[in-house]
Amino acid sequence: MDSRNRIFEAVAAKDGKIVAVTSNKGIARFIGENTRVIDLAGKTVTPGLIDTHSHLALAGVDMMFIPDLARPEVKRVKEVLDIVRERASQLKKGEWITVRNFEEQYLDEKRSVTRSELDSISPEHPVAVFCEDGHRLIANSLALQLAGVTADTPDLEGFIVKDQNGQLTGLLRESAMGYVTVKIPPWTVEQLEEGIKAAQEEWIKVGLSANKDPGLFEPSHRMIQAYRNLHAKGQLKVRSDVLWLTHEAADIDCASAEFRGPADDMLKIGGIKIFLDGAMRIRTAWMHDEFNVDYNRVDTGNRGYPVIDLELFKNLVLEAHKRGLQICIHAIGDRAVDTALDAIEQALKKAPRKDHRHTLIHAEVPTRQALRRMKSLRVAVETQTVFLHSMDDLAGNLGPKRAKRAMPMKSYMKLGITVGNGADADFYPLAPSTGLYSACTRRPRKEPFGPKVFGTSECLTVREALKTYTTLAAKCLFWEDRIGSIEPGKCADFVVWSEDLYSVPAEKLKDVEAEMTIIGGIVHKAKDSSRLSP
Ligand SMILES: [Zn+2]
Repeated sequence: MDSRNRIFEAVAAKDGKIVAVTSNKGIARFIGENTRVIDLAGKTVTPGLIDTHSHLALAGVDMMFIPDLARPEVKRVKEVLDIVRERASQLKKGEWITVRNFEEQYLDEKRSVTRSELDSISPEHPVAVFCEDGHRLIANSLALQLAGVTADTPDLEGFIVKDQNGQLTGLLRESAMGYVTVKIPPWTVEQLEEGIKAAQEEWIKVGLSANKDPGLFEPSHRMIQAYRNLHAKGQLKVRSDVLWLTHEAADIDCASAEFRGPADDMLKIGGIKIFLDGAMRIRTAWMHDEFNVDYNRVDTGNRGYPVIDLELFKNLVLEAHKRGLQICIHAIGDRAVDTALDAIEQALKKAPRKDHRHTLIHAEVPTRQALRRMKSLRVAVETQTVFLHSMDDLAGNLGPKRAKRAMPMKSYMKLGITVGNGADADFYPLAPSTGLYSACTRRPRKEPFGPKVFGTSECLTVREALKTYTTLAAKCLFWEDRIGSIEPGKCADFVVWSEDLYSVPAEKLKDVEAEMTIIGGIVHKAKDSSRLSP
């Protein structure tokens, strides 16, 4: 598939680059004595797929060092506690125990673990149970004590959750998580290198040859150092565009120093990420109108909220914009999307810049008006169609009317907005086959609010969906001259698929597997199912 979506029979590559795209007959003249010829027997080959928003480094360290409650899926509170108990037996007294991907909805009991349950099995280790949505954690008493959180800690927003008696439950939300997370020792560069090495194998297994890493929830310098070290050792296999997570003005200086540093076909530090609002699943995304509790009932008074001071936010956007960085803004709710667009518009007025490609990450329910503004401001979107499949309560949180404009993929396409796809791994299943399936079917995995497939007018065709992982995704990384299509001069990145992607029924797309992932002409066997996919 080339950038004009034309399909060819054969491709020749040399020194990691594509030299010819032609017919089976035409390829003969490129075959020399030392040429490795791979006969794919008519199997479908696509460009290597690109994930525009997945936390590869985070997925790596998580996979190596933090037990996962979702894979395999834990079903009971007792199983959660058993995992914490086992971890306590492996670690020295006082060392932190962290586990991840807790979600009470998946448990038979449909309730959270409690501080006292954690205390009873792990009194001598501080414990933090991170929730799957990334916006909540449950701590034991020792962790709260080390974090300096008491029932009297000032808490205007109600992020430190208490029971009816005013006692701490251990549940901390949003910014209150910071009390605990700052006490957990950060990953070392060595741990991060180990993590990235492990994670990239999972990316390769599912057909991904490039990734945009929006970072960890801690300062970005160690992660970037780890990427640079691995690349220097020739051990970075997946092409990586890495963002600097930005909370304050000082981060902009760090990010622009990294941005001006060395970059090539394998690694670059492309810009910054700023969080503007919360999450859809737990109804903290910033909305114009109240959320729904379920398909029919309104969550009275809850419109979510911004997670950053808005003056600071505008200023960060302006400063990063002036320095030539690409700004990627986590904006989920429709009000967050509009606010992000306002900030970008203002920055552009003060300092016009043609090809900025500032980006809205997620943008789950933009209004019609926002779509038109994205187009005119040339703002890109990095969205994740896998949410339509895996985020069970997406439609329920929005209600029937708004759900129709969730992830308006077809509208993005029609308007010519640059829209890249991705998985937001490690929070959602990594395999692009699931993202393709979701983009084409919009079918939820579980149907807690009835078998309602919402917004079917926004379904994509397979060819359109593939663009969001190839040509359009490459633009999100400013790498469209190197990757995203199969054309002479571009990097020799391909995926060989188990089925013909173009003819398999949409319902079966999620079962299609990457058999071979080729990056820069290096052939990696894929196939073994990835640890990060369902
Ligand atoms: Zn993310």
